Amino acid sequence: MKVKRLEISGFKSFAQRAVLDFPDGLCAVVGPNGCGKSNVVDAIRWVLGEQSARQLRGQAMEDVIFNGAQSHKPTGLAEVSIVFENAGTISAPQYADLAEIMVTRRLYRNGESDYQINRRPCRLKDIQQLLMDTGLGNRAYAIIEQGKVASFIDSRPEERRLWVEEAAGITRYKNQKKQSLKK
Ligand code: ATP
Ligand code: MG
Repeated sequence: MKVKRLEISGFKSFAQRAVLDFPDGLCAVVGPNGCGKSNVVDAIRWVLGEQSARQLRGQAMEDVIFNGAQSHKPTGLAEVSIVFENAGTISAPQYADLAEIMVTRRLYRNGESDYQINRRPCRLKDIQQLLMDTGLGNRAYAIIEQGKVASFIDSRPEERRLWVEEAAGITRYKNQKKQSLKK
C-alpha cells in the first residue's frame, strides 16, 4: 500500500487547501523550522484516526483546526484526505478490488466530526478495519517518530509481540476471534 496524495485544508498551519503528491521513489519534505513539516505527519496520523491530541502535539483535538495567522482568519473546519494506491495490499475483502482508496476526516469547531472512505460516510471503526494488518493502524510502525526505536527495544515481550503480529498480518484474525468469542 502506497500513499499517493495528501490533501490538507484548515489543518494546523495549512489555512488553504494544499495538495501533496508523493511520486514513486523516496520523498522528502524539507523546509525551514516551523514551516509545517511535522504538521504533514500529524495530518497523516490524524486522517488515519488518531484519537489522542497529545500524539498530534496538541492539548485538545480542536487544536488541529487552523487557528489564524496574520494573513488568514481561523477556519471553522479541518479536513484531510489521504489517497492510497491499493495494489492488492489491503486484505479487507470489501476494499480489496479498489485500485485507489481515499480516506477523509473532518472536524468542525463545534466538535462535530466525520469520516469517509472514497467519499462515502463511514465509522472510525471502518477505517481501523481497513488499515488493520497494513502497519498503519493502531500499532502503526509505518510512522517511526523520535524515541520509537528505543521504546520498541524497551517494551515488554508481550507488547513487542503485537508489533510482530501486525507485521505478519494476523491482527485482523485475532480481532475477529476476539469479537466472535464475545458473541
Ligand atoms: P521543525 O523544523 O522545527 O521541526 P516543522 O517544519 O516541523 O519545524 P511544524 O511543527 O510542522 O514545523 O509547524 C509548526 C507551526 O505550525 C508553528 O508555526 C505553529 O504555530 C503552526 N501551527 C500549529 N498548529 C496550528 C494551528 N492550529 N493553527 C495555525 N498554526 C498552527
Ligand atoms: Mg518538525
